[in-house]
Amino acid sequence: MSASTRMSTVARQVPPRPRIDDSVQHRHPQDELYLRRALETGLTGTAPIVEQYEQRISERYGIKHVLAVSSGSAAVAVALEGVDWEVGDEVIVPPSCPICTVLPLMARGLEPVFCDVRPHNFGLDPEDLARVVSPRTRAIIEVPMWGYPSRADELQGIARSLGVPLILDLAHCHVTRLQGRWLAEFGDIACFSTHEGKFMSTGEGGFVMTNDPARDAKMRAYTRFGNLDGKKVGLNYKLGGLQAAVGLARLDAIDWHLEVRARNRAYLLERIDNPLVRELPIVEGGVINGYALLMQVTQGDGRRFVEHLDAHGIPSDVKKYDNQPLYNYELLAPYRRDCKNARELLRSLTTIPLHPQLSDEDLQHIAATVNAYDG
Ligand SMILES: *Cc1c(COP(=O)(O)O)cnc(C)c1O
Repeated sequence: MSASTRMSTVARQVPPRPRIDDSVQHRHPQDELYLRRALETGLTGTAPIVEQYEQRISERYGIKHVLAVSSGSAAVAVALEGVDWEVGDEVIVPPSCPICTVLPLMARGLEPVFCDVRPHNFGLDPEDLARVVSPRTRAIIEVPMWGYPSRADELQGIARSLGVPLILDLAHCHVTRLQGRWLAEFGDIACFSTHEGKFMSTGEGGFVMTNDPARDAKMRAYTRFGNLDGKKVGLNYKLGGLQAAVGLARLDAIDWHLEVRARNRAYLLERIDNPLVRELPIVEGGVINGYALLMQVTQGDGRRFVEHLDAHGIPSDVKKYDNQPLYNYELLAPYRRDCKNARELLRSLTTIPLHPQLSDEDLQHIAATVNAYDG
């Protein structure tokens, strides 16, 4: 029997259902309360509501300095201000991250240097890191994807011994944990996005955090025109008061999100018993946030699995973005450096939604569809 006949036989085994929506409804009962407070106390990026938002994030993570900014991309651009470099210097990045992480450094005249990731993980591979590090390396950026932690603890030790600052782009890893701590604690600087599609949303927005007051002062100045003193370049990257108000409401809901997503993941994993797929291994001591369930094929081409799910109305970020090593893009082709682990990882994976709007019927349909996959 040919592969396509087999697929169509299987397709008949899963009863059809309406397409599952992957957009989370970002409404929270406290939204109006905080928005009213913003309207009454000021809407600029220096209004008290923004300070309250930064304070709440700081308390949540136990990290001293939090700076709310206008996007996740702004967060990366601002984090670069927290480290020292000159035009033409190098920044090490994994090729498996979104292009959004790399564009801000290219915009400043920094050169991305691609470093492979570990097998079956989005964290940088220490052996490859030793190959690509150079006297011009000014920062290492780690980008764990879809809520799954990397070995940022080990990377922190390596970065320190090299004397190079470690920036964590945690746009996907709000409240992801490692060794009983927040993943964010393992970076010199951690950046987050609160874009509508991320774990916690303010529509557009982001924030940057550090325990280092000198880095914080430089980053903060950069987000407000270099404090307008005409000595240093800066732009306006501040988050507005309305977004900060919504952020406060979303922080109230973050534990509920964690809980529901963990429950949905457990529900699926209890029912999935297809030996052709598995959950992406979670590093020892790591706790995911449930932003998505990452499933990996154990053999064959993972894009066939993505297509199988899509044909049954189950959306995937990998279908939407066709995630590939970044050096495959025209803009980044000059920095091409084949990274086998990253290439194979991206080709083996799919995301499965875990968001709170999924019904039991949706989850049962997802499990049945995964189990019907025959390679
Ligand atoms: C989404 C994302 C960004 C960009 O965030 P925006 O808020 O869309 O600017 C940066 N890095 C990573 C890893 C992301 O996923």
